[in-house]
Amino acid sequence: MPQNLAEQSADNSSHKKPLKPCERLKRVGWASPTNKLHTGNFTCPSNFRGKSVVIPIKGFIENSLIEWEGKIVSIVFLPTCNLRCPYCHAPHLIQTPNNLESIPTNVVINKIRQNLGWLDGVVVSGGEPTSHKNLDAFLKIFKDMEILVRLDTNGTNPHVIKDLIDRKLVDCVAMDIKSPLRQDKHDLVAGVSCNIEDIRKSIHIIMESGIDYEFRTTVCPTQLDGDDIEDIAKTIKGAGRYVLQSFRPNHCLDADMLDVQPYPVETMRDFAANARKYVNYCCVRGEEGKVAQRNW
Ligand code: SF4
Repeated sequence: MPQNLAEQSADNSSHKKPLKPCERLKRVGWASPTNKLHTGNFTCPSNFRGKSVVIPIKGFIENSLIEWEGKIVSIVFLPTCNLRCPYCHAPHLIQTPNNLESIPTNVVINKIRQNLGWLDGVVVSGGEPTSHKNLDAFLKIFKDMEILVRLDTNGTNPHVIKDLIDRKLVDCVAMDIKSPLRQDKHDLVAGVSCNIEDIRKSIHIIMESGIDYEFRTTVCPTQLDGDDIEDIAKTIKGAGRYVLQSFRPNHCLDADMLDVQPYPVETMRDFAANARKYVNYCCVRGEEGKVAQRNW
């Protein structure tokens, strides 16, 4: 069983293998190393029914070596979210997105197009990306560039996740699992109620999809303990990759969270070791020294 996303990529035979950057440039024929950033109107490929795709983009990291292990990626942040996790580090993105300036879609697309010579893929994060109705068309642009696409999601929209996977618009899904799949517990950790069965469906869809995936849980001492992590690990028994992220008391949606001390790293390691009884791979984010949190 693959031990990390890079190995999972190599194992993945159900999706088209991404081209090497030099091959991609020849095939797509869009970019050259001397290209300047284009800020004019972006015209979508003709198979987009001739319509421009406009999606609100509130953050863009042009390149990251650590967000998707083993890959050089751009990261796009979309606003709004249907959850209100008290520890959320992007309160401005989900509560007051209209106060943030949008980056024009064509600017982001053209910048990525310009970097096709060395870029492996794009991570579309949030907020909750699946809340945007143009998400499929947006992702199609990157798939037409023949680069990898990873979707970050909270798993509350299983039908959207399934549709994107079925249409081969994503190569990898990274899904948060907020808590054990008990309605009262999930409501507490997520800050609002959502249908817990939707979370269960998303887990099932992702695990059965054959594409790369990662499940992840942010572990806050006032919300989750070792038994909760074990419960989650049992729910995703056999999963290829499960990552525990330590809660961090900064820029939290709920100001009371700023006074909460994270678990010591040794405790987090113990949680991960216990989870490994059920999943094929579990680590504490940061321990492997390669993947960082989004930098909101
Ligand atoms: S942590 Fe993620 S799922 Fe929770 S409110 Fe923030 S963006 Fe939404």
